Amino acid sequence: MALRIAQKIRDTEAEGPGVRFAVWVQGCTIRCPGCCNPEMFVHGKGGVEVEPAVLAAEILATPGIEGLSMLGGEPFEQATDVAALARIVKAGGKTVMVYSGYTLDELREKTKTDPGVQALLDTTDLLLDGRYDATKPEKTRRWIGSTNQTLHFFTGAYRPDEARFWTSNTVELRLENGLLTINGWPAPADVLRRFLRSS
Ligand code: SF4
Repeated sequence: MALRIAQKIRDTEAEGPGVRFAVWVQGCTIRCPGCCNPEMFVHGKGGVEVEPAVLAAEILATPGIEGLSMLGGEPFEQATDVAALARIVKAGGKTVMVYSGYTLDELREKTKTDPGVQALLDTTDLLLDGRYDATKPEKTRRWIGSTNQTLHFFTGAYRPDEARFWTSNTVELRLENGLLTINGWPAPADVLRRFLRSS
């Protein structure tokens, strides 16, 4: 099966450590109030379908990246295909970070019915878990949306005491082919998006 993705950015520093290739998947049933990507809620519509191996080849051919970040939408709702992508990227020497609205406990429960969830957990270096809570913006830990979310270090690729995890959060704006995209720290990014829509 193909992976349905909503967006990709080849080189961002606002979605995890280092310069990363970021992929937002299409589809999320969690629907956190204040989610900044509501256009990515619906499964099966919007975005484009891509074969994991094709996308992995593009990622591995991108110069200067430290790894892949998967966001959404909800990566674990297309876990088998995201895991297939992540496996190739990791075999190519890159790290994998996944942002999920599910808690790790919920994901472990899901492994009982969806083997893709375990496959994706097994290929993840860094997992940010839990619902985004717009009332609790994270101001201390970089690359994290709200204070209730937990960053899990599954492998030795990263350490929680690395200084880069504790610097200011960032928002990126980019203009490509006439299209303005905003990504990074959700709270200010959302304010910026609403301002641009109203102006
Ligand atoms: S899990 Fe992520 S994509 Fe889904 S509603 Fe929450 S913030 Fe939005």
